Amino acid sequence: MSAKPANDVMEKIVSLCKRRGYVFPSSEIYGGLGSCWDYGPLGAELKRNIKTFWWDAMTNRRDDIEGLDAAILMHPQVWVTSGHVANFTDPMVDCKKCKARFRADKLEEARCPLKPSKSPLECGGELTEARKFNLMFKTFMGPVEDESATVYMRPETAQGIYVNFLNVKNSSRQKIPFGIAQIGKAFRNEITPGNFIFRTREFEQMEMQFFIHPSEDDKWFEYWREQRWQWYESLGIRMSKLRWHQHGEGELAHYAKAAFDIEYEYPFGWHELEGIHNRTDFDLGRHMDATKKDLRYFDERFPEKFVPYIIETSAGCDRTLLTTLVDAYDEIEVKGEQRVFLRLSPKISPIKAAIFPLVNKEGMPEYAEKVYHDLKRKFKVFYDDSGAVGRRYARMDEAGCPFCITIDGQTLQDQTMTVRDRDTMEQSRMTFAQIVDFLDTKVNG
Ligand code: ATP
Repeated sequence: MSAKPANDVMEKIVSLCKRRGYVFPSSEIYGGLGSCWDYGPLGAELKRNIKTFWWDAMTNRRDDIEGLDAAILMHPQVWVTSGHVANFTDPMVDCKKCKARFRADKLEEARCPLKPSKSPLECGGELTEARKFNLMFKTFMGPVEDESATVYMRPETAQGIYVNFLNVKNSSRQKIPFGIAQIGKAFRNEITPGNFIFRTREFEQMEMQFFIHPSEDDKWFEYWREQRWQWYESLGIRMSKLRWHQHGEGELAHYAKAAFDIEYEYPFGWHELEGIHNRTDFDLGRHMDATKKDLRYFDERFPEKFVPYIIETSAGCDRTLLTTLVDAYDEIEVKGEQRVFLRLSPKISPIKAAIFPLVNKEGMPEYAEKVYHDLKRKFKVFYDDSGAVGRRYARMDEAGCPFCITIDGQTLQDQTMTVRDRDTMEQSRMTFAQIVDFLDTKVNG
């Protein structure tokens, strides 16, 4: 891949997302809404594939993790107990000159709206004292809009898992160590959202909480770090673009014993993609104190009842999607023309293969349509018969489609078709049965 300036790459990705139907600005015909984005046809498919890929790895392929889909609105006391009402705050400062608001702990990365090349520390404007700003969105439940009707839009999916610990344990008959996984929306009234879908106010999380005996926490923490690292590798992310960041003394949440982030090198710098945390017995302990429900665990293998420790893996779905796009984006010159390739892994690409009749005559469209309809039952495929084949390839390369299947004169003679690989550009001839096997291996691994 060629080196390109950061902003340039992000601008190109945002524009490609709009052009090809990955991501659109929310409510665009009304002028958009700050940092809210909608997923278009290809984006919705990619997001669904990423979630399925995570869900498969974290639940379906394991015996020790159960799934959950908890409500976004929860009892407001949950957020008092968890500490979010008191502490889920970011320090906020205002610029007295331009009135812009910034996170006081991220001033170096922030840009002055009047002088975008400078940070608010360098632009000459005077900043107010930092004050705490709670990031939780509030709404009202029922017809009366007063304090007692306040409920929160969950800022993380984890609490839905903790309050269901007993329900899941009892109904699934899982024994410790076991985990609960959940994918769902979370809301944070971020002071400075931005960088496209990297930091938004409404986003989706893919979280797993693993319940263990306190004596085994270091072992399981290491295990989950390794598993999560490998997951990004199997997703096809370039490993040279990932690194670990260990939370130091000042950064570590007061209840956490250890925390590591997996960071990715985005065009705008290294940033967190996922956090892996040893949350100790803090969460279940707090909910037990608040509700007086016994959340301790016992079975014959342990000498006494204990409050389980929790190892958490917490990933952002939208941020993973952005990472796959950034990682896959490539521009190269082909026959004197600058061309864009979105080198998404076939495991998550929205379209797995495109089917083209070489020309719209001599029985080729009929044959191609049959191939399309037969493949559609197993894979997400796309039919295209308009324009020169070269142009059709180019459209599919940019849309992230890994394989193109062309039906030509020889197909009608020997039933073989050309399968062209987006990344190697190699073409090989295969029968329909071979294509099904080939796609199955590439898509399902
Ligand atoms: P940050 O320090 O960037 O605000 P965080 O440490 O508060 O993030 P966590 O609470 O650990 O993040 O959330 C887990 C994951 O959820 C993050 O690693 C990220 O992928 C995702 N995430 C968190 N906040 C946002 C957001 N505003 N927009 C998109 N994804 C987010």
